[in-house]
Amino acid sequence: MSELARRRELARADRVLPGVWRLRLPLPWPGVPHVNAFALSAGSGVVLVDTGLHEPGAMGQLGRALGQAGLSVEHVRLLCCTHAHSDHYGQAGPITQAAGCELWMHPNHGHMTKAAMDPDRQLQRRIEVARHSGVPEAALSRYQSSRKGQGVGVAEVVLPDRDLVPGVEIDTDLGVWQVHETPGHAPSHVVLHQPERGLLLSGDHLLGRVSLYYDYGHTPDPAGEFLRSLDVVEKLGAGLCLSGHGRPFRDVQGHIDANRREVAERMGRVEAALTGEPVTPFDIVPRLMQMDELTPMMVNWGLSEALCYLRHLELQGRAKRVDADEPERWVAA
Ligand SMILES: [Zn+2]
Ligand SMILES: [Zn+2]
Repeated sequence: MSELARRRELARADRVLPGVWRLRLPLPWPGVPHVNAFALSAGSGVVLVDTGLHEPGAMGQLGRALGQAGLSVEHVRLLCCTHAHSDHYGQAGPITQAAGCELWMHPNHGHMTKAAMDPDRQLQRRIEVARHSGVPEAALSRYQSSRKGQGVGVAEVVLPDRDLVPGVEIDTDLGVWQVHETPGHAPSHVVLHQPERGLLLSGDHLLGRVSLYYDYGHTPDPAGEFLRSLDVVEKLGAGLCLSGHGRPFRDVQGHIDANRREVAERMGRVEAALTGEPVTPFDIVPRLMQMDELTPMMVNWGLSEALCYLRHLELQGRAKRVDADEPERWVAA
């Protein structure tokens, strides 16, 4: 067993409510120790919401967590994914095959399924965006060689048997769950709401600890979409949120407000960076992240976030790109 595998945590299950199990599945990512999948009792089996990342031992970890709940993967009658990121969708192929069940997911999953079908092209696209954004060539080639040939954490591309869109209902022992589209974090993001019990399965749209991430390059305005999705969730008035990472929490409105404040503050940092000479998106990243030393992963995250705020400010007439500059440079409008 490798040193890494020995140190890795084991999956576990916590019963949140009668008929709702939180399955904590370990992740190999710095700062993100687990992802939550949820098992919802439904007749003789369960509806499974989200999957965990595809990596060696992932099915064993899921089996271990389900086992603690007195279940096995054969009990999964239906798999629903809140969005197509690898930690929520990566094991969809092995799970649906082992369980013989359907996969339901929002149709805007191309941000992941296209990348998983052609990871090299995806990496190339990312490098292009980074180059246009002013990332220095030396950093680009280091990043490229570190990522080349790495998987995307998805076992295989499986397409949904049914589109998880508003109007679709998910029947469980706790009642029917309804689907609400909440793009922003990812174009395919949905939340599942059980109105009689005030339960919200929020995926990565609302997390216990505010942590903003947007998938850049698939839709015109991910930050604006995220803010509109907060409005969607606010109207539901849920009383208990089961999020994709971290512990369940009750103060849903407080978390919505905290997300709005965080977006406003971080967008404000980007806007403040535009008041002087034209700057590249890469110039903005240390100010956005408030860090001097940035790891390649932080640059990657920060660049997506900075680009999303720039597009949002541009659409609002508050920022503009300097014509024909390469790399792109921005100023206040
Ligand atoms: Zn995600
Ligand atoms: Zn996640």
